[in-house]
Amino acid sequence: LIIPSFKEFKKLVEEVFEDVRDCKDGKAADYIPQLARVDPDLWGLSVCTVDGQRFNLGDFEKIYTIQSTSKPFTYAMALDLYGSDYVQEYVSAEPSGEGFNEICLDDNNKPHNPMINAGAIVTSSLVKPELNLADRFEYMMNIFRKLSGGTYVGFNNSVYLSEKSVADRNFALGYYMKENDCFPKGSCLKTILEFYFQLCSIETKCSAHCIMAGTLANGGVCPITGEEVLDDVSVQHTLSLMLSCGMYDYSGQFAYKIGLPAKSGVSGSILVVIPNVMAICLYSPRLDKLGNSSRGLLFMEKLLKKVNLHQFDSD
Ligand code: GLN
Repeated sequence: LIIPSFKEFKKLVEEVFEDVRDCKDGKAADYIPQLARVDPDLWGLSVCTVDGQRFNLGDFEKIYTIQSTSKPFTYAMALDLYGSDYVQEYVSAEPSGEGFNEICLDDNNKPHNPMINAGAIVTSSLVKPELNLADRFEYMMNIFRKLSGGTYVGFNNSVYLSEKSVADRNFALGYYMKENDCFPKGSCLKTILEFYFQLCSIETKCSAHCIMAGTLANGGVCPITGEEVLDDVSVQHTLSLMLSCGMYDYSGQFAYKIGLPAKSGVSGSILVVIPNVMAICLYSPRLDKLGNSSRGLLFMEKLLKKVNLHQFDSD
């Protein structure tokens, strides 16, 4: 795909952005007070091309926690460190056909994929297990900062504390997986879960989040700084799983209609990667029943009617 003119593309995006502004479908997450208190009308968008061109619309500077959009990055980091053979010993690469926090494992007693909670919790346990929790967190934060080209990446301690205090499901998942030997030997479940909640509680804004996704679009090289942050093979595997599993139980539909690797998070963001071209970050807190931002999805559907971004489009 070649975008004929960036200016024209920007105009199209602006039109669709305004067109879906009135969408009030769905409901913002309210399982923790910090998410329940967010203004549900917020609507932000950022674009970052692989050659570093950017533009932002609406509430692109509003800060939110990255939640499940941390999952592809954690996975890519694990692949970078240990290679896909090792990582696949612990986490499969198959859509689960279940909700994001379902207590289920595949036939080999492994989580289905790293884009749902079970797989993401195990993936978190793989990254730098030899370090103490503080150093592990710092290690990851440094990579998130590099992915965002040194723009804004922070940490929301209130969200972290809330996530930790309403974590029965994730603890249940954790114990179920511990019983089934899903973690590397010597892992401490409490530490793994704390690390996972911390990764969900990293905060950013559309304009920075989009650069992280732009780094995935650009084979692991940050489009803003030119730094190689992730190996291109790790990024390739990650994008495959974003295409098949990134949008929870809507992933099949999303791949069918939109045909692009994407990842959504419960705070209302969606990262969409157009490989070798650009990334789009959408932020709108109201979620549909499957947990994806309703307005974000509507935006993508309408955008695709105007411009052929689907990976399997033959034009
Ligand atoms: N904190 C949430 C959880 O682990 C993140 C999930 C999400 O964004 N879907 O349940």
